[in-house]
Amino acid sequence: MPKWFFSRSKSYRCKNCGYELPKEEAVVSGWTSEKSLGHIHCPKCGKIIKTV
Ligand SMILES: [Zn+2]
Repeated sequence: MPKWFFSRSKSYRCKNCGYELPKEEAVVSGWTSEKSLGHIHCPKCGKIIKTV
């Protein structure tokens, strides 16, 4: 089985509410500062699903 099989998925899952956000719909925010990482908010509950 290929190595990427486990790490790659087509969506992000919110740990807070369980919402599944397709990666193509994910909006990365937080690029205003060089020091801050970009992050993706859950559209349902507003929690950060993923930092990039
Ligand atoms: Zn959520």
